[in-house]
Amino acid sequence: MSYDPSNVFARILRGEIPCKKVYEDAHVLAFHDINPQTPTHILVIPKGAYVSFDDFSAKASAEEIAAFVRAAGQIARDAGLDQPGYRVLSNMGRDGHQEVPHFHLHIFGGRPLGRMVP
Ligand code: IMP
Repeated sequence: MSYDPSNVFARILRGEIPCKKVYEDAHVLAFHDINPQTPTHILVIPKGAYVSFDDFSAKASAEEIAAFVRAAGQIARDAGLDQPGYRVLSNMGRDGHQEVPHFHLHIFGGRPLGRMVP
């Protein structure tokens, strides 16, 4: 699947639509989900044009991957989620029910999340 630059997260990265930003560096942007499923629901996205986790894992540089993972952990800590905990998740492709075709990580927290149901 080729990258569609009209997707909503690409538009947020270009500043064409607003977001509630929580973090930004050279490789990463994070913002609050517009339709939060938990008291804290943050989306972490790479600035590079990657369609999905599959695309990112295959094509991103080691520097981009390291920056992304480091930032995600820091964002969760800064949101006060490391104690008592949180969940990270990435929906991938059709069966994963991915809606926005720009790779993103969900960070869910702020209440007990219960057992993970696939
Ligand atoms: P997906 O199913 O993993 O692709 O989830 C996409 C997420 O993006 C959903 O949780 C949406 O609520 C969220 N979302 C869609 N548009 C926006 C927006 O403009 N700002 C913030 N979050 C958005």
